[in-house]
Parts: sequence; C-alpha cells; structure tokens
Amino acid sequence: MTVFPTLPSGKVDIKSLDLSMLGEFLSSIDIPSEKALRIYQAIWQKHIRNFSEINTISKQDHRKLEQTADIYFLERHGLFPSIDGTQKFLWKIPQGGVIESVLIPESDRPNGYADRLTLCVSSQWGCAMRCSFCLTGDLGLKGHLWASQIAGQIQQVSQTLQSNQRITNVVMMGMGEPLHNYDQLVIALRTMNHNCALRLSNRKITVSSVGLLPALLRLTREIPVNIAISLNATTEEQRRAVMPITKKYSLRDLLDTCVTITKLPNQRGRRITFEYVMMKGFNDSLEDAKRLTEILKDIPSKINLIPYNENPDRDILRPAFEQVKAFQTYLVSRGWYCSIRTTRGIDISAACGQLGKAFQIIKQPT
Ligand code: SF4
Repeated sequence: MTVFPTLPSGKVDIKSLDLSMLGEFLSSIDIPSEKALRIYQAIWQKHIRNFSEINTISKQDHRKLEQTADIYFLERHGLFPSIDGTQKFLWKIPQGGVIESVLIPESDRPNGYADRLTLCVSSQWGCAMRCSFCLTGDLGLKGHLWASQIAGQIQQVSQTLQSNQRITNVVMMGMGEPLHNYDQLVIALRTMNHNCALRLSNRKITVSSVGLLPALLRLTREIPVNIAISLNATTEEQRRAVMPITKKYSLRDLLDTCVTITKLPNQRGRRITFEYVMMKGFNDSLEDAKRLTEILKDIPSKINLIPYNENPDRDILRPAFEQVKAFQTYLVSRGWYCSIRTTRGIDISAACGQLGKAFQIIKQPT
C-alpha cells in the first residue's frame, strides 16, 4: 500500500504527489481516480488554496479532500532585489529554517529586454556535500525539501511576475544537492514538466550535481532533463581537496559515468555542462585548462567557468579577469564551447556559492 507524504497537520501533502500518485490517493478516499487531472490542474495552474474552489468536482469530493489533505504554500520570508535585476526570494519552511530561490533575468539583446527568466531552485535546506568553496555547505544538511516545496518555488515566484512574463528556465542549483533528495526531486520534476501543471519543457530544466553516481544514472534514465556537473578540478587530488564527495566517487568514475550518460537515448543530442569554479592559484592555470581538455575529450560537453565569488568567510581569491579569459581562450581554441558565467546578485548574496547567507544580509526584507 502506498504511503502518502503528510504535512505537520497530519493531512496528506497533495502537492507532493505526481499525477499517478494523486490518482491512487483519490481512490483511497473513494473519489474516482479519473478526477485526478482536473484536481492536479486546479492546484498547479489555477493556484487554488481551498479544495472548495475546484468547480469541476462535487461538494462531496470537496469534503473528502478537506478531511484528508492540505494544499501547502511556502511562506514568503523576504524578497531582495539586486541592482542587476536579480531577485532573491526567502521562504520560511515548517522544518524550521529558511530556504532561497533566485530569479535571474537574462538577455542576449542589446536593449536589455529579458528574453530568459531563469529560476535557481533549492532542493534541500543546507547541504551535506560540504564543498569547501560553498557557503551553503557550511550549514550542513538541515533537511530535505518536499516535492511541494521544490515545485512550489516555481509556482509561487511565477505568481509574482507580470502577465506577459513567465519563468523560461529552471536550474536546480540553489541550496542542496538535488540527487541527495532523489524521490522528492523526481516528483517535483514531473510536476514542472506536466502540461496540466507547470508546463516547463524538460529541455529547459537543468539538474546540477556534484556527481552522486547511482542517482545520476537513475535520473538520466528516468527523465530527459539537462545535466550539469559541478567539476571544479582536473585531478583526483585537486578535486578531493575541495569536494569531499570525490572520496566516495572518484573523478575517474564520475567521468566514466558521464560517458555512459551521453549515450543514453534520453540524453541523445545533448551535452553535459561542466561547471568549473575558478579559484586563484588553485585551478586557474593553463595546465589546468589543458588537463580539462584531456579529461573531457570523450564527453560531448560544454564548460561553464565561474570566477569565484569572494566573501569574508573564505580566503579563496577570484582570479584576475585576464586569467579567466586566457583559460577560456585556450579551451575555445581547442574546439570547446566554453562560457564565463556573469556574476549576478552579488549585492544580495544570491551569487553562486553564496546561498544560505540570508541571516547576514544587512538590508531588511521587503
Ligand atoms: S556547491 Fe552545491 S553540493 Fe557543494 S556544498 Fe554547495 S550546495 Fe552543496
């Protein structure tokens, strides 16, 4: 018998059910499972807060749902706008803490019109991976987010947008290691993609991971989303120094798994993005760039260079722009697609590796 996730109220967390689970749940409370689609749509597209607002089911169904389930919404704890247009949303969660989502308008046009609105979504409160350059890792793992909280970040940020705007891309790069919260991630990904829910193409969803290999293989077989790997090093020793996960899954095994992934039918025609946080004097030399081309030569890939965002809690330095540019030029000259990530939201601690610093922000939430 399926055990349905519950909220602190003891009632079922209906937004943590995918469509097929919802059908099963309805059957268990004597509502025909064929009504699942209408209820799913009302919850995710009409944003109902009470079951009585669903006018496509009977009053008797409303009562059964009210007695057994709740519609959970994240509690907004603050909104911080950056001078560059980025917005950081803080959400208070019943597990006891605050999590963050970052909305990033991006433009390829000279007039600055935002043609992409990317939401960086959290999957956990804190993180167990403890990558040494990342402030979220300092928190340790405080809790896994529910599927309703992961997909809910997209739904609730969307509700703050103007009618002619919509979130175009989702990156699972906020707080946490998404694959460490596998079951809830997968339910949330189904909700993001479903036509009667958040309607985001899987091609517009990217899951970023340090490389929890069994879960990575499982996900890429199950759902055709884009994959990004937080790489940050070119040798075993170097990666172990900043990413403790390398002690469990070696760099060699990670690269071999990536080769396997790119051959899966689900991933055909796609490239894995390798994220490379550049730290001065650690991994920013041209020897590193050369090794990078050697270790990635068998993997259809893109490289995203992320110059380290300096902060008072670390003595890691950001390389000079010329160094980053030289690194990129080396890779591009050898045929790699390589971009440099623009730092966004640095004034609101929303840039890469800074999430979780909410309590140290001096501005007051609006
Ligand atoms: S970089 Fe990602 S996986 Fe590593 S500690 Fe930070 S949030 Fe966790």
